[in-house]
Amino acid sequence: MIDLRSDTVTLPTPAMREAIARAEVGDDVYGEDPTVNRLESMAAEIVGMEAAVLVPSGTMGNLAAMLAHCPRGTKAFLGAQAHTYVYEAGGAAALGGIVMTPLRNLDNGELDLDELRDELAKPPDAHFALPGLVALENTHNLCGGTAVELSHMAAVAELAHAHRLPVHLDGARIFNAAIALETTAKKIAETADSVSFCLSKGLAAPVGSLLCGSREFIGRARRMRKMLGGGMRQAGVIAAAGIVALETMIDRLVEDHLNARALAEGLGLVAGLNVRPVKRRTNMVVFEVDGGAPAAAKFAAAMKDRGVLAHARGPSSFRAVTHHGISRRDIDRVVAAAAESAGEVFGD
Ligand SMILES: *Cc1c(COP(=O)(O)O)cnc(C)c1O
Repeated sequence: MIDLRSDTVTLPTPAMREAIARAEVGDDVYGEDPTVNRLESMAAEIVGMEAAVLVPSGTMGNLAAMLAHCPRGTKAFLGAQAHTYVYEAGGAAALGGIVMTPLRNLDNGELDLDELRDELAKPPDAHFALPGLVALENTHNLCGGTAVELSHMAAVAELAHAHRLPVHLDGARIFNAAIALETTAKKIAETADSVSFCLSKGLAAPVGSLLCGSREFIGRARRMRKMLGGGMRQAGVIAAAGIVALETMIDRLVEDHLNARALAEGLGLVAGLNVRPVKRRTNMVVFEVDGGAPAAAKFAAAMKDRGVLAHARGPSSFRAVTHHGISRRDIDRVVAAAAESAGEVFGD
C-alpha cells in the first residue's frame, strides 16, 4: 500500500529502534530521565525558548499550553479551521472551562486580523468573558498544509501583546513551515510565547511532542501534564527516538515537499480532479473529485484497488500527505493510479 493518509503513519527508523534499545532512562516524573532531559534541552534550543516538556501527543501539548495560559472562563481566540478547535475533542472547553472563540481563517491559514482587532477592542464589560490567549497554527493543516507568513504571525503577536495576551503556536509541523518559508524554527517561534511541535509526524518518531516556552510557563505546563495523566516514568525510550528525529529527520523533509509538488502537478493533469492551490505548499495536497460524493467514493475505492490510500476530508475532498515512507517513484505510481481511477469513474 502507498499510504498517503497522513505523515503520522511513518514508522521509526532502524537508528531510532537502536537508540530506543540503548536509551539510558530514569523516572521522568522525578526529573531523573537523562534522555528526556536531553531531548527537552534540544527542543528548547531549536525553537529558541528557555525550556520544554515532553508530552505524549500534540493534542496534549496544545491542551497543557491552553490550561497553563488561560484561567477558567477566559477566551482563547483561534482560527475556525485550527486543529485545536476542530480536531482536539474540545478539550480546552471540556477540561479547562476555556471559551474557545473561533475567528475566520483565510485560505492561506491566516486569521482575519480585523475580526481579531474587533474582538480585542471589546470593553471589559461584565457581559464578556475576558480574553486569555491567541493561538496560531503553522503549517496550517486544514488550510492545505500551507506555511503561514512570518509577517502575519508578527502582526497577530503585536495585537495580542498590546492587549497583554500570550500567543501559543501549534507548530505540529513547524519544521515543514521553516523549509517552506526558507527560515528557521527559531525565527517562526520568535513571535510566540509558547510552541508545541510533533516528533511523530514527518519526523517519523513513534510517539511524542514537545511544548516549549519560558521556564516559568513550562513549570506550570508540567503540572497540567501531570493532571492530564501525561507524566510518564521511563520515558527515555520515547525520547531516544525523538533525539534521532531531531538530529537526522528535519533536513530530509525537503524531499517530502518536492514529492508533494510533483504529486500536485501530476494530479492537476488528471481530468475530473481539482487540486486546491496553496500559497506555500509543504507536504500536503488537497484535491476535489468532480461529481460529488458518489463519484468520490468510487474514485477512492478504485485508488484503493490500485494500492493507494488518501484521507477523505469531506464528501468529495481528499488529502494526500507525503512523508518518509513515500518515494518519488511512489508519486509516479499514485499519479498513474489516479489517471486510471478517474478514467474508470468518469469514462475515458
Ligand atoms: C497532528 C496535529 C496535532 C495533534 O497531534 P497529535 O499528536 O496527533 O495529538 C496538533 N496540531 C496540528 C496542526 C496537527 O496537525
